[in-house]
Amino acid sequence: MKVTEKIERANANGRYFWSFEYFPPKTESGAVNLFERMERMKSLGPEFIDVTWGAGGSSSEETIKCVTTSQVAIGLETSMHLTCTNMPLEKLDWALERCKEIGIRNILALRGDAPRGVETWTASEGGFSNAIDLVKYIREKHGDWFCIGVAGYPEGHIENNDKEAEFAHFIQKAKLADYVVTQLFYEPDLFLSWYNRVRAAGIEIPILPGIMPIQTYAGFQRLIGREKTFVPAEVLAALEAVKDDDFAVREYGVKLAVEMCEKLKAGGHKGFHFYTMNLEKSVRQILQGVGFVSAAVATANTEE
Ligand SMILES: Cc1cc2nc3c(=O)[nH]c(=O)nc-3n(C[C@H](O)[C@H](O)[C@H](O)COP(=O)(O)OP(=O)(O)OC[C@H]3O[C@@H](n4cnc5c(N)ncnc54)[C@H](O)[C@@H]3O)c2cc1C
Repeated sequence: MKVTEKIERANANGRYFWSFEYFPPKTESGAVNLFERMERMKSLGPEFIDVTWGAGGSSSEETIKCVTTSQVAIGLETSMHLTCTNMPLEKLDWALERCKEIGIRNILALRGDAPRGVETWTASEGGFSNAIDLVKYIREKHGDWFCIGVAGYPEGHIENNDKEAEFAHFIQKAKLADYVVTQLFYEPDLFLSWYNRVRAAGIEIPILPGIMPIQTYAGFQRLIGREKTFVPAEVLAALEAVKDDDFAVREYGVKLAVEMCEKLKAGGHKGFHFYTMNLEKSVRQILQGVGFVSAAVATANTEE
């Protein structure tokens, strides 16, 4: 089923909905662990799940294997990420055909990050240089088989210093797409004002805010350094106070994510996308904290 059909159904019933993002592990044992985790987290009722495409096209086989298992064996509605990085047309065609064969109807179309260790992104020969071209190609080649999502950046995409041009590119991209998933953020007001601007520009497709629970202090610092994410001073101060206590950092991450979801709910949002980092405990606690699942569901069948 298409993600947009699932969202329409949730909206028609007036209920909240959520999705989970996973990345493909590099080892066999990592994959087995992830599949068991996906199976357990299925009881949390995600509307759909996403599997990322490795930076630089590094994980194409692993991603295909993950989406085959999640869609066919576990029975989770799956959206596969697909990027332009190191992806000549034959490889894009191969990935899209594989998706069709296994019944995947949803693709998150991205330009992609540069491969690890490479500073500047460059297009591969005969490949595409931005997400818009990829979206157009998928439509041209596969008609309406795929429901196509694209990435949105409430704080703007870091590579483009011309914020007006960046926003205009995003609007052009969103006009061709079926839904949007956003980059993570830690200031809901920034998301909400960007969201209102996007709606004012005439974009009516679903937009899912990306929520990344803070798991470790070091990981969080690396992430916000790399993405140049704005973090409110009170969040930085609260984390600084507990930075040597891993348990307290994770607990604070849950509390912050619950507060952010509450603020987004108050702003009228019903759909939430969680970057799980292949972990389950924080997401369980957040869903319970926001009241999306009961304590019984949140704590059942967990191993973390
Ligand atoms: C929800 C989400 C999921 C992600 N999943 C993955 C993943 O699985 N694998 C991965 O490698 N990366 C992933 N990323 C990271 C993403 O690939 C990078 O942020 C990448 O740098 C931009 O991808 P995009 O599709 O947003 O690019 P685009 O929309 O193509 O934009 C890229 C840059 O080009 C500029 N631009 C766009 N169109 C034009 C034009 N016509 N002329 C000039 N400039 C233009 C934009 O302003 C922007 O600065 C994800 C990001 C998000 C938010």
